[in-house]
Amino acid sequence: MKQNLCKLCNGTGWVIKKENGVELAVRCKCQDLDIFITKGEKANIPPRFLGAELRIYNPDPNNPSQEKAKKKARKFIDNYPSVYDGLLFQGSVGIGKTRLLCSIATELIKKFKNIDIFYIDWNDLVREMRSGQDVSSRDFSSINQLINKLSEVELLLFDELGASKISPWVYDNIYYLFNKRYNDKKVTLCATNYFDDTSNVIESLSQRVGDRIRSRLYEMTEVVEIRGIDYRLQNG
Ligand SMILES: [Zn+2]
Repeated sequence: MKQNLCKLCNGTGWVIKKENGVELAVRCKCQDLDIFITKGEKANIPPRFLGAELRIYNPDPNNPSQEKAKKKARKFIDNYPSVYDGLLFQGSVGIGKTRLLCSIATELIKKFKNIDIFYIDWNDLVREMRSGQDVSSRDFSSINQLINKLSEVELLLFDELGASKISPWVYDNIYYLFNKRYNDKKVTLCATNYFDDTSNVIESLSQRVGDRIRSRLYEMTEVVEIRGIDYRLQNG
């Protein structure tokens, strides 16, 4: 389609640049963008967050915990790959946790062309694995392949931890995956709607993901709590 052609290179992927009086053919900027989008797709980043950068994550000025979370994300990007702990964003629904995870991924893909990164959502993983629930039709090869991929990827982004209840078999597999990453010193970034204290919610993160997984997370990640705005404080 003609209207999608890049105006700089007319779709050829090359532009002429003059350097010290010599004309050179150089890769057009649009090619970087293409590669970048392809990498984001390969990393399983949800389409609506493809290309989301941290600078467009705008913390609510009335919510210091959001600003703090953005700073933690920035620090993680700046220090990568010299990072030993992952991050565990804990925050209520709609506070921008997925955007934070995906913008860290986006910026790292830009910074490190060959970074090996993968995004998974708890519900998607559970759904994948549910197909293996019934032993008679269990497709071990595809489930093993997925678990191996998640265990071995350099940087794993694990969203919506504890979003749904899981069977003991699925639980064992997810625990295996975290434990393997822990033993192999691989960094994992997580996000969840559940907190460790239950003062405002019915269930804690431990109750949702189990004590074994929660205690692994303690050892692998730094907690970054993002609280909703407390309007009582604002008005008081
Ligand atoms: Zn172009």
